[in-house]
Amino acid sequence: MKKNNDIVLFKDGKRYDGRKADELRPIVMKTGVLKRASGSAYVEWGKNKVIAGVYGPRQLHPKFMQNPTKAVVRCVYNMAPFSVDDRKKPGPDRRSVEISKICTEALENVVLTEKFPNAVVDVFIEILQADAGTRCVGLTAASLALADAGIPMRDMVAACAAGKVQGEVVLDLMKEEDNFGESDLPLAVTPRKKEIVLLQMDGKLSREEFTKAFNLAVDGAMQVSEMQKKALLESPVEVEK
Ligand code: ADP
Repeated sequence: MKKNNDIVLFKDGKRYDGRKADELRPIVMKTGVLKRASGSAYVEWGKNKVIAGVYGPRQLHPKFMQNPTKAVVRCVYNMAPFSVDDRKKPGPDRRSVEISKICTEALENVVLTEKFPNAVVDVFIEILQADAGTRCVGLTAASLALADAGIPMRDMVAACAAGKVQGEVVLDLMKEEDNFGESDLPLAVTPRKKEIVLLQMDGKLSREEFTKAFNLAVDGAMQVSEMQKKALLESPVEVEK
């Protein structure tokens, strides 16, 4: 979080982009967007544009990586070079390796891996345009893509962040708020059982602020979950040839 005392991020109850403290950015979700993937989803969330594609379950090679009791879930998060202001160097870096790991762990919690021994389920999250909160958008899109692929799951995963910006606890930080705010708390929930499958924190929050931000982010994720349900109900029955 950078220091900038000039930028006003919260004034008269309104945020930098005019939202209220507990308001999400506009979100659009679509499934079945890739012809050759087993399942796919596209999510626009504020200025974020993210696509997720699922391949599998299929037999895992090389064989020594197989687990005879369950499928392996592999999630790869990648940011396109043109997704951010300064061209991002293509390929994995520390940040994308970390986000791939936490997304894999979140999705492992919901996929019924025991149904597919020796198999792999590959999940690719491609960030086409980034404006903060991309791990939440990516995970939300990945869960939609898994459902679109018809992969048996215990529950969905819906994600959202909350944080602290110029002393105010707010929902779903955009880039300026993320850059110049005090704290960011992304989390992911399984909506049916309300289990937390991802929880991270950047910056500092007091105990009270943490509780407030946590509850706000869970409420945000539950709203995201309703949008996922709607997107799945509106899914095309057959992918266009
Ligand atoms: P998240 O996107 O999940 O909030 P971060 O907090 O690490 O993850 O990043 C916040 C935002 O910072 C990103 O959404 C993106 O807009 C920007 N960002 C991240 N990595 C880079 C990078 N390598 N170059 C430029 N901007 C970046």
